[in-house]
Amino acid sequence: MNTILLGPPGAGKGTLAAMLKDNFGVLHISTGDLLREEMKGGTDFGKEIKKYVDSGALVPDEIVIKMIENKLSHKDKSPKGYMLDGFPRTEVQAKDLDRILKKIDRPIDFALYMEASLPVILQRLTGRRVCRKCGAISHIKNRPSKRPGICDHCDGELYQRPDDTEETILNRMQVYAEKTAPIVDYYAKQDKLETVSGDEETEELLKTVTKIWNDGHQSYKAKSAERN
Ligand code: ADP
Ligand code: ZN
Repeated sequence: MNTILLGPPGAGKGTLAAMLKDNFGVLHISTGDLLREEMKGGTDFGKEIKKYVDSGALVPDEIVIKMIENKLSHKDKSPKGYMLDGFPRTEVQAKDLDRILKKIDRPIDFALYMEASLPVILQRLTGRRVCRKCGAISHIKNRPSKRPGICDHCDGELYQRPDDTEETILNRMQVYAEKTAPIVDYYAKQDKLETVSGDEETEELLKTVTKIWNDGHQSYKAKSAERN
């Protein structure tokens, strides 16, 4: 199954993606994670990227597109499919993705759009903590780690992303509204969109996605139409 996770920062894309990866064995490709990995290295390239990421601006399209193309080209590494998280984020990226997917013959089955309200987003992002070592996501109130500041999975150190401050979050929301929100329609027009509420608990969302996954998107849609 090949999918795209769409939605504002804090909609819960990363948390849901981690669960889907565990349950379905698909390859989780997060451009945010790839960029943070690059920044960790402290290379000139990493430093250039950091300027954008820390301020909440988008990294130039060419950079992220190249990263995605590299990752998707190895089909043998993801026989169960792929899940794109945080990509595409602009119309240019969405169109380029279609070009890449056509070339490698791995079309998406559906795009999952996770809507979320601003208060929920702010609460989630300001309390979010990320493991420096393995990237696992926790939350100081919603999903606290057993020992404060220490990752449950690998004992790594938990930290707050520099772009998870209130000011930068508002900046990211504005960038989202301007550049990313319009591509939701791009997938609706291709009849590939499924919308869920990101305000819901991840466990509930996991059930919904599992249904879509098992039924196939088109028959899931037909069934929900009958129910309504
Ligand atoms: P979130 O979904 O919480 O905003 P991400 O980890 O997906 O977090 O992204 C963090 C930052 O990485 C973004 O604010 C942006 O600077 C950069 N980034 C991630 N994906 C992309 C992308 N597809 N295009 C441009 N910049 C990106
Ligand atoms: Zn960890």
